[in-house]
Amino acid sequence: LTLRLALLSLLSSALAQDAPGATTQKHEFQSDVARLRNIVINSLYSHRDVFLRELISNANDALEKLRITSLTDKTVLNDPLNITIKLIPDEHGGRVVITDYGIGMGPEELSTNLGTLAKSGTSDFLKKAEGDAPGDTSSLIGQFGLGFYSSFLVSDKVYVASIPHPSKANPNPTQHVFSSVSDEASFEIYPDPRGNTIGRGTEITLVLKEDAKDYLDEAKIRALVEKHSAFSTSYPIYLFTRK
Ligand code: ADP
Ligand code: MG
Repeated sequence: LTLRLALLSLLSSALAQDAPGATTQKHEFQSDVARLRNIVINSLYSHRDVFLRELISNANDALEKLRITSLTDKTVLNDPLNITIKLIPDEHGGRVVITDYGIGMGPEELSTNLGTLAKSGTSDFLKKAEGDAPGDTSSLIGQFGLGFYSSFLVSDKVYVASIPHPSKANPNPTQHVFSSVSDEASFEIYPDPRGNTIGRGTEITLVLKEDAKDYLDEAKIRALVEKHSAFSTSYPIYLFTRK
């Protein structure tokens, strides 16, 4: 792992936004997702640190997928974007933003990958978690990653803005947003009102809960990354700082 500190220039108007309206698609979460989110939100409070490990692990997977795609599609890495992960604590907005310049997702992938539980691993987690005494659930985290939904341990609202790399099938992709509020059964997908601000990859904006504002602390983030992600991440991580 390379954890580098970079100076945060003004975030300006680049923060993720809600949908302007007309173009929004509303989807219901698959019922399993609702169950998983409830477990996450209700019984894993003392393990909320894991959100960062899960999101960095997803960013790392996305970069690895991009690297593998680039072996057969030479157009993929013909752009100036780095293969890196960015962490930005935005104290002013009470948000943490995690960006990877990886494989990215189109609107259908955002909906399928984040709105349904396609993976057997997570279903196993659910079966075990609901079968066990509530207090035992936390011991399962080590065995089954909680994945993206661990975002809701620390967030009231999550925006995932993403844009896939251009391909023959989709030469001009557009950036879309998946947004979800922690206690709602539906999520929204809409074209990003900011346009294409990422270039390629995925930007996750966590609007922190009132009692999770300590994750804006640079030293805390830094310690978590070093503790949980140092040996499992192959790409450089930039932690942005104002100081
Ligand atoms: P897992 O990583 O075990 O598949 P997650 O809940 O962490 O489960 O993520 C679900 C899916 O969402 C991933 O398999 C991937 O397809 C997609 N995904 C999540 N984060 C990203 C990301 N940063 N870039 C691209 N795809 C992502
Ligand atoms: Mg994951």
